[in-house]
Amino acid sequence: MILIGPFSQIITMGGLPLCGPLKDDALVVIPNGGVLVNKDKIVALGSFNTLRKKHKARLVEITGPACLLPGLIDAHTHICHAGSRANDYALRVAGKTYLEILKQGGGILDSVRKTRAASRKQLCQTLSERATHALRSGVTTCEVKSGYGLTVDDEIKMLEVIKSVHKDHPVDLVPSCLAAHVKPPEFDTHKDYLNFVATSLLPVVVKKKLSRRVDVFVEEGAFSSALSRPYLQRAAAMGFDLIIHADQFSTGGSRLACEVKALSADHLEASTDADIRALAKAGVIATVLPGASLGLGMPFAPARKLLDHGCSVVIASDWNPGSAPMGDLWTQAAVFGAAQKLSTAETFAGMTFRAARALRLHDRGVLWPDMLADMQAFPCKDYREILYHQGQLKPNRVWKKGVLIVGEKEKL
Ligand SMILES: [Zn+2]
Repeated sequence: MILIGPFSQIITMGGLPLCGPLKDDALVVIPNGGVLVNKDKIVALGSFNTLRKKHKARLVEITGPACLLPGLIDAHTHICHAGSRANDYALRVAGKTYLEILKQGGGILDSVRKTRAASRKQLCQTLSERATHALRSGVTTCEVKSGYGLTVDDEIKMLEVIKSVHKDHPVDLVPSCLAAHVKPPEFDTHKDYLNFVATSLLPVVVKKKLSRRVDVFVEEGAFSSALSRPYLQRAAAMGFDLIIHADQFSTGGSRLACEVKALSADHLEASTDADIRALAKAGVIATVLPGASLGLGMPFAPARKLLDHGCSVVIASDWNPGSAPMGDLWTQAAVFGAAQKLSTAETFAGMTFRAARALRLHDRGVLWPDMLADMQAFPCKDYREILYHQGQLKPNRVWKKGVLIVGEKEKL
């Protein structure tokens, strides 16, 4: 057993509701706090001096100012991919349209070509490097989608790569099958392709236990609601949780998410007031992705409205090679929170316990007894310094399952 502390403040994120607005004075903040950890779990939290007197534990002393938070949970990423799309980005900022970039060989299919050509070893290495980068920013759990393979073999290759890096890397990776990302050129119609995925790929994913989540990009040019509905119903019948890339450029996806009882609807930049009311009523988690707005130079999702209507709002990075290449969740969330007028509590919640629920994880996202000791500490006395520095203040210590991975004696 180890006692870690003293921390200037421990922000537990405990005792807060899963949905709706949050005020900062609802945060449970322990001053001069300590955390008692046994193996991978938190045993107790409280006053450092009291814990020190009460328990015989090895002391891990924290010197200097330190604010402790739960490790971040990034609930939407595409960090398993090969190659860069810097060319697309340069063309986009110079004013080229999506279609013009596509004609010049860019877009998602460019990442598909590069990912298909990459070996498992290469994909494992780049995924592992990105997971390490995320961990240094305090991310201790990260969802990762397939969707750059689009054949049975290449989608399975991606999901097996995610599984293998999950096993070897300190960050927990949660895999999602996004074979319905875009129609590959080998198929004539979107309908034929979705039928192929449902009959030839998803049963293999189930058999090999590679993912419990099915995601679809519902959008003009990707997959329509009409075609996605039966696909998602088939996936649900196989036991998958449903996720939808919804309302990014046009509406319809979030309505479908409500209809098929999806776990989350992600993006929502284009959602209307009626869509927002429907999401709140259906209890579909609203995952917003400020990194995509920043990468595309487009408006943010209406998080303030979503919260005020009673939704559970999760903030994720959408880290991907095309629209969201930044991959820095703290920076994105801080800038987003300033634009959308989110309280610190709402921004923290969107990346901790509310994000955990978007991945159906009940053992993390809160610093509380019996929870995993996934934690990050910032070199400051006051937790409000963290968002104030808009991503420039990084955690100087990160623990995964009770082990200090980032810090004085780094394990990376
Ligand atoms: Zn995405």
